[in-house]
Amino acid sequence: PKYVYLFKEGRADMRALLGGKGANLAEMTNIGLPVPPGMTISTEACKEYYHIGGKMPAGIMDEVKQYLTTVEEQTGKKFGDLSNPLLVSVRSGAMFSMPGMMDTILNLGLNEQTVQSLASNTDNLRFAYDAFRRFIQMFGDVVLELPKHEFENLLHRQKEEQGVTYDQELTSESLRKVINNYKEMIESETGHPFPEDPMVQLTMAIEAVFRSWNNDRAIIYRNLNKIPHDLGTAVNVQSMVFGNMGNDSGTGVAFTRNPSTGENVLYGEFLTNAQGEDVVAGIRTPRPIAQLKEEMPVIYDQFEKIADLLERHYKNMQDIEFTIERGRLYILQTRNGKRTAQASVRVAYEMAKEGLITKQAALLLVEPNQLDQLLHRQIDSGAKLNVIAKGLPASPGAASGKVVFDSDEAERMGKTGAKVLLVRMETTPDDIHGIVAAQGILTSRGGMTSHAAVVARGMGKPCVCGCEPIRIDYAKEEFTVGQLTVKKGDIISIDGSSGQVILGEVPMKEPEISSEYSIVLSWADEYKRLEVRANADTPEDAKKAREFGATGIGLTRTEHMFMGQERLPFVQQMILAETLEERLEALSHLLPMQQGDFYGILKAMEGYPVCIRLLDPPLHEFLPSQEELLIETTELKITGKDPKLLAEKQQLLKKVRALHEFNPMLGHRGCRLGITFPEIYEMQIQAIFNATVELTKEGYNVLPEVEIPLTIDVNEMKIFKEKIVAIAEAAMSAANAKFHYSVGTMIELPRAALLADELAEYSEFFSFGTNDLTQTTFGFSRDDAEGKFLPNYVERKILKENPFIVLDQKGVGKLMRIAVEGGRKARPGLLIGICGEHGGEPSSVAFCHQIGLDFVSCSPYRVPLARLAAAQAAI
Ligand code: ADP
Ligand code: MG
Ligand code: MG
Repeated sequence: PKYVYLFKEGRADMRALLGGKGANLAEMTNIGLPVPPGMTISTEACKEYYHIGGKMPAGIMDEVKQYLTTVEEQTGKKFGDLSNPLLVSVRSGAMFSMPGMMDTILNLGLNEQTVQSLASNTDNLRFAYDAFRRFIQMFGDVVLELPKHEFENLLHRQKEEQGVTYDQELTSESLRKVINNYKEMIESETGHPFPEDPMVQLTMAIEAVFRSWNNDRAIIYRNLNKIPHDLGTAVNVQSMVFGNMGNDSGTGVAFTRNPSTGENVLYGEFLTNAQGEDVVAGIRTPRPIAQLKEEMPVIYDQFEKIADLLERHYKNMQDIEFTIERGRLYILQTRNGKRTAQASVRVAYEMAKEGLITKQAALLLVEPNQLDQLLHRQIDSGAKLNVIAKGLPASPGAASGKVVFDSDEAERMGKTGAKVLLVRMETTPDDIHGIVAAQGILTSRGGMTSHAAVVARGMGKPCVCGCEPIRIDYAKEEFTVGQLTVKKGDIISIDGSSGQVILGEVPMKEPEISSEYSIVLSWADEYKRLEVRANADTPEDAKKAREFGATGIGLTRTEHMFMGQERLPFVQQMILAETLEERLEALSHLLPMQQGDFYGILKAMEGYPVCIRLLDPPLHEFLPSQEELLIETTELKITGKDPKLLAEKQQLLKKVRALHEFNPMLGHRGCRLGITFPEIYEMQIQAIFNATVELTKEGYNVLPEVEIPLTIDVNEMKIFKEKIVAIAEAAMSAANAKFHYSVGTMIELPRAALLADELAEYSEFFSFGTNDLTQTTFGFSRDDAEGKFLPNYVERKILKENPFIVLDQKGVGKLMRIAVEGGRKARPGLLIGICGEHGGEPSSVAFCHQIGLDFVSCSPYRVPLARLAAAQAAI
């Protein structure tokens, strides 16, 4: 099989085979951009490496050697040659970009002999030794897996010996000593001398990249981003160019638009006289790209044109890595740029306005889950802030938390529920778990494209980076700014939109929505077929839902209206009633209250349907717990003060015991309550229609949908349907009014899904309650599952996802298909929706579109996301 491809043999659409980096290097080569020549070893080779138990597949290196001769021709250099040696970089690159997750080796091919040729060809011994020093260090770290800090210590010791602070101040003699010390250390730690043979170096490096696919950081990143573990990585072997050959050289990273705001300006950073990773590693703080225009105007011009060309070519904002070698520009990487939600919306909007892409393409450019970020909290602008420092605004949103300097500690404290802010000089991929656990990240070094910044933006976490005024002392676990000392555990806040670091907690407020955002979402409404409703129990929620673009309520839970101090006593009285009269008495107090609730919600949603579910939870949820009552009665018995109260509490305890269920989730709840206590449902139905009559008379067009929960059989539906119709008819004739209403059922038990055709006879609509349907299909109770065994199932890949978050299309989805088909066969045009939490999860929304539902319903805050997801499903 062919494992190796020259850059000119590949294309952008070969990502799966060549990895994202390789495919784009190929594409750029073929559109004529200045890419240093090279080749890509395919992901197939990596898969084969693992398939045969972690061994290099036979013949791979022969292929590499063969293609190397082409690269030699293209560059005029020869690998391992003594007069004009070709040096290469070995770069990992998987199908999905995994920033900083796997390591790159630069300057490979150097040894004691070639380093001398490099020195004489460039007339710069110091440069050659520096390149060699870096190579040995990267090779030692990535390939030989020796601890980084051992190299850093040796380097540091040499700086001390020479009496300098910075790497670039080291003389060639000092670098020579560092190289010797590195080599000695490698030999003593590994038992083998540093490999001088370039081909051995190359073979080992390629194998190390294959290996790195399964290092801990890579696995965590893939788990976090739901990237499959079996894709493998490609390896790019590319001829080196040098950004560290003097002041007419440099290296940088730039986005074609501002990744934080979306503004259409080149946005990036560069360093002169620096090699590769110096920018991304955040070790020196780079300068804004705009300054390149002043320093190297011709190069800047050329780069701007290339950036524009790449954006037009890929029809997406690009993130470009470049290097300048002695006044010549090279492009080393391009990929779709990661961006904040705000930038994402603005870029999509502006690209469509600029005519670069269609509206549909613009909608596909925005990741629905990202819209959540736009609902991030901001610091209240009226607040008085004690700003102690300012860094770079790397990822928007504000966060407060206890200062923590260590990622393990951040994780530990995060697990106890503490809000922490991770403060580091810089972060590396080893800090991922700390970043996950923290509310926000603050670093003292590194630019907008440093590791911390990139990762935080991806996760939608607030981040301030490159905050140089703060001096961190890891040993003392504190940082200082001027006179001020902030210790571990002290609370600070950061504002990732302004870069401010603030002492103490700050008041936060909800964000304002931009006009681009509203327009892009209105485009979504043009293309989506699914109606997006919201789950809302109060008029306030209903109003919010309308603001966010909901066109109906998919679920109003009436039980929330049974809570509250002035209501609960009547609810309890209703439950405890020994006779029908007593129960009706209690219900007569609840009726006007419920009527008022329905009035408010129906009015807030005027013109749109409101689906009201009759009482669902088991009655004991409205009573005190057995434990509580036992303590109270015991106390009352001991003090003997209030025998009347004691008798009441004892009576209550008896009732609570009687209502006790072994498995309330499968117990006396849902419409089973309506069967056994018909007067409860009758009161609710009456309240709905009284409110409807009131509003109709006031001239409002309201559309109540009465929904029966937890049905299992058509006979239940028949009873409720007849009752609802009778009460509605009576309400209409008593008030001499006419209104629209409909009657339907939740589908949340497998039996209901299987017998949906029968249920449809008495149902004008179905709504999938996928929370319960998931519980009952799997036989998992959610709380037990998520707390006890589900994480294990997901970790071991027995289940791909937590089915309570991402709809289980295979199992639960199959029941849904059966119900849709059955329901529509019995009643063509049957209205069908979903109101479980899955209604606000993008892949589940797409599934609902696919199986022909009419609406999804989710929490008001997720409505924008669902609108976009629904549009994407339809495009
Ligand atoms: P990552 O995936 O972490 O971004 P890369 O493979 O892009 O890793 O390498 C990191 C950096 O190394 C690049 O940004 C670039 O500056 C430098 N680099 C990689 N290959 C070369 C090369 N052939 N010549 C010069 N610099 C290189
Ligand atoms: Mg890169
Ligand atoms: Mg339910």
